[in-house]
Amino acid sequence: MTRKFNFSAGPAALPEAVLKQAQAELLDWHGEGLSIMEMSHRSAEYIGVAAQAEQDLRELMQIPDNYKVLFLQGGATAQFAMVPMNLLRGATSADYINTGVWSGKAIKEAQRYTQVNIAASTEGNSFTSAPAQSELVLNPEAAYLHYTTNETIGGVEFDYIPDAGDVPLVADMSSDILSAPVDVSRFGLIYAGAQKNIGPAGLTVVIVREDLIGSTLAGTPTMYDYKVHADADSMNNTPPTFGWYLAGLVFQWLKQQGGLEAIAAQNRRKAGKLYAAIDGSDFYANPVAVANRSIMNVPFTLADSRLDARFLELAEAEGLLNLKGHRSVGGMRASIYNAVPEAAVDALIDFMQRFEKEQA
Ligand code: PMP
Repeated sequence: MTRKFNFSAGPAALPEAVLKQAQAELLDWHGEGLSIMEMSHRSAEYIGVAAQAEQDLRELMQIPDNYKVLFLQGGATAQFAMVPMNLLRGATSADYINTGVWSGKAIKEAQRYTQVNIAASTEGNSFTSAPAQSELVLNPEAAYLHYTTNETIGGVEFDYIPDAGDVPLVADMSSDILSAPVDVSRFGLIYAGAQKNIGPAGLTVVIVREDLIGSTLAGTPTMYDYKVHADADSMNNTPPTFGWYLAGLVFQWLKQQGGLEAIAAQNRRKAGKLYAAIDGSDFYANPVAVANRSIMNVPFTLADSRLDARFLELAEAEGLLNLKGHRSVGGMRASIYNAVPEAAVDALIDFMQRFEKEQA
């Protein structure tokens, strides 16, 4: 068996140690004689696993006590609707920052429920930067301000937390949650699909300040009500038990790595090398403003797009997988989440340099 280097944007690489642990206890979890997948979510054993995962996430992110942590389904896409359904609380509009594909989708969904004010948009520069705080046009009456901390496709990451005054801040952190420490107390709500830095697809994590929940739009389905999930410890119905368990293993792995400060240092080093290699060549290019370059998703183009197919073919032959950019933008994208080892980045850079020389 050889595991290759996986640069997928999501579902993405998982830590090898976590996969091995899951494999070792798959058939017989902790001597119980059955797998975790086959266990009732109401059993004392499973409730222990679920509670430990929550506690480890709370510790890693230093989540204050007045925040609920929810383990849901529906992906980040369901949150595009769940956020307005729960957080409008009688207000007639919400502010959104538009930095690319994912914030665009959140905006489109929110428009089904409320008036959306675009507090800032970087469409004018083809979504190659994040707006500065001074550029945000904020409405103090807005129900909340929503933004996407890291645009997975464009590779654009905020280098600051927007200040919306007393208006709750809502963040889609799907592709950069757990990549570095973040001050949770600055946010009203944080959500993330699991399939990048948390675990397998099928799980969505929501971190929400308690005082914001409990008042939904008329007609909100039970499963879209945060309060229902909060009151039931995310077990109003059968939760995604395997994903929640595996996320718990990832949280333990992160703690073993030294927590988010240590992971952030690794991530900065990995991304720094890759951007340096791109900038140091006339053959590769990345269009994003330097301050907003993502440490998780690194898109880059080749000087001649006719070479893209050859690049991907040779990369794959060397065990460097899933480097194709998103279909909407083309080019390449290397997603270098927490679980992608530095050796993968080194191997990619080495390959890129050899490929470039071959073209000369
Ligand atoms: N937001 C961001 C930033 C994403 O990267 C993605 C998925 N790539 C989504 C939302 C949608 O997530 P899901 O597929 O879990 O609904």
